[in-house]
Amino acid sequence: MKDKKTSNDQKELVTPKVFSQSEIKQLRESLSGNLYLPGDDKYEDAKKTWALYIENKPSVIIEINDTTDVTTAINFAKKHQLFIAVQSTGHGASHPCDGHMLIKTNLMHHFSIDVESQTLTTEAGATWEEITAESQKSGLVPLTGFAANVGVTGYVIGGGFGWLVRKYGLAVDHLLSFNMVSLEGELKTVSATENEDLFWGICGGGNFGIITSLTMKLFPLKSVLASQFYYPGSQAKQVLELYRSIVENFPEELTSAVSVMHLPPNPALPEAIRKKFVVSVKAIYQGDEDKGKELLAPFKNLQRIYEQQETLPYEKASKISGDPQAPQKVYGHVEILNKLTQDLTDILSNLAVGNVSVKPVIEIIHISGAMAKVPVGKNAFGHRNAKFILHVEVPLAADNTQAAAADYIHSLSEAVRPYSTGGTYLNFIGNVDTDEELVKSAFNEDDYTKLRLLKFRYDPGNILRFNFNIPPAKVYQIL
Ligand SMILES: Cc1cc2nc3c(=O)[nH]c(=O)nc-3n(C[C@H](O)[C@H](O)[C@H](O)COP(=O)(O)OP(=O)(O)OC[C@H]3O[C@@H](n4cnc5c(N)ncnc54)[C@H](O)[C@@H]3O)c2cc1C
Repeated sequence: MKDKKTSNDQKELVTPKVFSQSEIKQLRESLSGNLYLPGDDKYEDAKKTWALYIENKPSVIIEINDTTDVTTAINFAKKHQLFIAVQSTGHGASHPCDGHMLIKTNLMHHFSIDVESQTLTTEAGATWEEITAESQKSGLVPLTGFAANVGVTGYVIGGGFGWLVRKYGLAVDHLLSFNMVSLEGELKTVSATENEDLFWGICGGGNFGIITSLTMKLFPLKSVLASQFYYPGSQAKQVLELYRSIVENFPEELTSAVSVMHLPPNPALPEAIRKKFVVSVKAIYQGDEDKGKELLAPFKNLQRIYEQQETLPYEKASKISGDPQAPQKVYGHVEILNKLTQDLTDILSNLAVGNVSVKPVIEIIHISGAMAKVPVGKNAFGHRNAKFILHVEVPLAADNTQAAAADYIHSLSEAVRPYSTGGTYLNFIGNVDTDEELVKSAFNEDDYTKLRLLKFRYDPGNILRFNFNIPPAKVYQIL
């Protein structure tokens, strides 16, 4: 294994900071949200993340209820030299904030839908599930991810894509404006015409302030054709090769993914695939049902163990993703691919079939389409010309240690390196080993330099550091 600077190296203060009773009383009285300290009844629950590989032990947790709470929290953190982690659901937690401050946005989850302008305005702590259920009633949908329960803010600022990516692109490209509190405690409206530098950087880079609300575009869509085909895992090579041979001809109305995985004994799964080692092809098609079925017909040429094809409201159809609802402990990895070759799909099927001990999930997602039509550099999101995302996860369950998972991922990344761009997609990373080089690889080189300069301007002390961190530029880089 190559030496990595892991999040454990980033722990700079592990003993909880102790505050005087009068300071805590004053803080509590100035908040309309909640305050939790180690030892409080609700502290243990409040510090949890969805991504269980991160275990936080903050010195103070503030559940914000309005923008004034954010300013109050920032001032308290600065006075006590605390760094700040921001969390909505904790799906994208990347570094433990031990000894410091955790700001939680979950109380701020109100949203409104403007049917006429086809826009959504939401507070920062909302999740897609609640929004999509409501917007679908007006025949409008947001650009949600494959999983419905992730938080809006982390998802969007990281790029954000799901079953509509090829038709409409990345969620971040349809973000119209947002409100944030800067680390100076100032409320700012940020858009393409106001605080443009922050709009450019936060869209794709995050890192520069605490977002309190966002406004973004919705899309008219009533229903889609949702398809899923399952095959025995032993047929991975044939299915991956079939997928590779036809996927690049799919129109933008069709977004698809192929995965090799060990399914859990989940009673909600059809019996034919429950607890089985399978390979699946899943797709969402917008358009005429017969045309969609025709495009996907080749997947019926191989012997399936289960299949389902039906036209459903988008909100229901996207449930084919099958992403876990309950918090998970996994070790994830991402590669960005510009091409799928048979060599590569053969390597991946061998790595999937031959490694039953770590039970990896190996998934290839077809992206490109609309996301590549937005000019490079419009915002900080990198690699918008990527064609495929390779997303691998090893569950850290009973018999999978983190070391075994890291070894497996390391071998896999060595094997696929000749076929990958070397870039990454941070939203999908999902593990504790995120170092500076990995974060850097998510961006185009010039953009990364620009992001570091922005960080120097808006957060020179790197107060917001428990994230996919962009370190502030050194002063000599600016002069
Ligand atoms: C099961 C699962 C399925 C997923 N599916 C998809 C998918 O289909 N497509 C996709 O693109 N991604 C997907 N993701 C990744 C997901 O988009 C990221 O994990 C994202 O960060 C989640 O956002 P969150 O706000 O819920 O997470 P959180 O962990 O709460 O936040 C993640 C990060 O965002 C930043 N952040 C959050 N809120 C704020 C705020 N108010 N102000 C400033 N910074 C903030 C912080 O840096 C924080 O560390 C998935 C993740 C999981 C675990």
